[in-house]
Amino acid sequence: MFRKFRPDFTFNSYNEVTAQFLRENGINVLLIDIDNTLAPYEQELSDDAHAEWFGSLRKAGIRVALISNNKRERVERFNRSLKLPAYPESGKPRRKYMRAALAELNADVSESAILGDQLFTDAYAGKRLGMRAIIVPPIRDKKTPFFRVKRALERGIMRGHGKRKRNNH
Ligand SMILES: [Mg+2]
Repeated sequence: MFRKFRPDFTFNSYNEVTAQFLRENGINVLLIDIDNTLAPYEQELSDDAHAEWFGSLRKAGIRVALISNNKRERVERFNRSLKLPAYPESGKPRRKYMRAALAELNADVSESAILGDQLFTDAYAGKRLGMRAIIVPPIRDKKTPFFRVKRALERGIMRGHGKRKRNNH
């Protein structure tokens, strides 16, 4: 039932996802969420750690795009020095802009993955297109009741993920 929300890989932080790991898993294309994946909501600009990580992916020939549900101004400001293909207001888990990003990067779903912090938007957006999903814990949670309920649901799914992994591998 939760198959489409279940990530293929989990890491503690975006920059633990190395070019070597991606290459070893046949991932040449990465669509990347911004908020709470690369930076907390309050961080407007990308930083040196981002530049270093994106540089290492570029050197390895990994093609990337930013795909965010946040507003154009936020995405453009964050992307100002990175200068990556970027899709604001993408409406994940809708597929429209995911497909547009893959087309811009001349990518096949089989060589592509999404990197994000949300199971119901990021992981689902990728999985329903047949891509792999890499999930990191959100950098900073919004402490609203809605988000707390959502997180509790997600923890249930992640427990299922762990159990499945132990059984199958
Ligand atoms: Mg996010």
